[in-house]
Amino acid sequence: MTATAPHQKARALKPGSPRPAKALCSECGLCDTYYIHYVKEACAFLNQQIADLEAKTHGRSRNVESEDDWYFGVHQEMMAARKQEPIPGAQWTGIVSSLACEMLTQNLVEGVVCVQNTPEDRFQPQVVIARTPEEVLAAKVNKPTLSPNLSVLEAVEQAGLKRLLVIGVGCQIQALRAVEKQLGLEKLYVLGTPCVDNVTRAGLQKFLETTSRSPETVVHYEFMQDFRVHFKHEDGSTELVPFFGLKTNQLKDVFAPSCMSCFDYVNSLADLVVGYMGAPFGWQWIVVRNQTGQEMLNLVRDQLDVQPVHSQGDRRQAVQQSIPAYDQGVTLPMWAAKLMGVVIEKIGPKGLEYARFSIDSHFTRNYLYLRRQYPEKLEAQVPEYAKRIVAQYKLPPT
Ligand code: FAD
Ligand code: SF4
Repeated sequence: MTATAPHQKARALKPGSPRPAKALCSECGLCDTYYIHYVKEACAFLNQQIADLEAKTHGRSRNVESEDDWYFGVHQEMMAARKQEPIPGAQWTGIVSSLACEMLTQNLVEGVVCVQNTPEDRFQPQVVIARTPEEVLAAKVNKPTLSPNLSVLEAVEQAGLKRLLVIGVGCQIQALRAVEKQLGLEKLYVLGTPCVDNVTRAGLQKFLETTSRSPETVVHYEFMQDFRVHFKHEDGSTELVPFFGLKTNQLKDVFAPSCMSCFDYVNSLADLVVGYMGAPFGWQWIVVRNQTGQEMLNLVRDQLDVQPVHSQGDRRQAVQQSIPAYDQGVTLPMWAAKLMGVVIEKIGPKGLEYARFSIDSHFTRNYLYLRRQYPEKLEAQVPEYAKRIVAQYKLPPT
């Protein structure tokens, strides 16, 4: 007879009931399963432990001497890539979906945790364990809302799956790594995306309504490297809104408190990360963190055009200027925002320097948020690499 593991006696929380991390909960889904048993150690907002988990997962934590390490995390390779034949309707060129399909068809995994949408709402996440490439493809494109990816972990164990791929964002992956040993898997593969400024479904509606000319027809959007938000509409048209024209005064409280307290933009604990912000416009940015990530990437390498990452410009002045502007909720008139967008696109940071710009802007903003809203959490919640990054800037007094 197999002994019952301690977590199997625990009870998942009921939907809508208060969560251990309270307002900081990112709804990662762990508490929707009996793995809630481990929540005090595992939750990214109760116990930030990125350095320890990096050492366990990648064999080392970030090297303090390497600026690339503090910014982009432990890695053995970075590159820009795009699919030679992009998947129509994917967020970018569909490298994430292609990789997951390949892992299923080559029988490396028996299931893939990914996020489809509900039949009624294209942005409402519906987490599934995909067993076929068709089910993976039905999860393409971002659902830009908090998503309980770990809520299916109990079902994974009950289905007896032993080889699993999880696709997810940083807070989900931190909790996943913390309970990895309890999942009874022979092999876990983790394919991460960077993530920032996520919102609840209601918050997303507010963002769309304050920013887009036609909120109800938006099918896809992204904050792009050309300093504009690109909204794609149902009719195929693209709407561009400059970052500097966003109504920051109305949007200040739209982002989830969890995302305002997060310093894991680059998904430090995934084996392989696929984003866009360190790559030229139109390309995806790939960070291979360890040997497992390398093996995963090799599966789709022949489907990709690849080029080295590059870095151009100097972000520091733009970041320093954006700190008080965001803090005071400054919104420029649209003509000035467009003009500033054009100028900064020409002379502003590109490639890895754009990624550093985005990391610096978000880390300084989040540091200020925590310092004001949760001063008692500041020391433990901010990892050492993020403290170093923030220390490069002059912050407003408390
Ligand atoms: P696709 O093939 O379209 O696949 C998308 C995958 O995302 C699907 O497998 C799906 O399961 C998963 N997914 C969808 N919604 C969610 C969700 N809410 N939570 C977890 N997983 C989800 N990259 C950057 O470089 N900078 C950023 O600031 C950035 N912010 C992001 C914010 C969010 C909320 C998300 C989900 C991703 C973000 N990314 C960011 C990653 C980027 O937008 C693309 O997702 C990534 O480059 C993969 O593109 P693709 O075409 O290969 O993905
Ligand atoms: Fe639970 Fe996840 Fe919320 Fe933390 S973030 S309280 S682990 S659901």
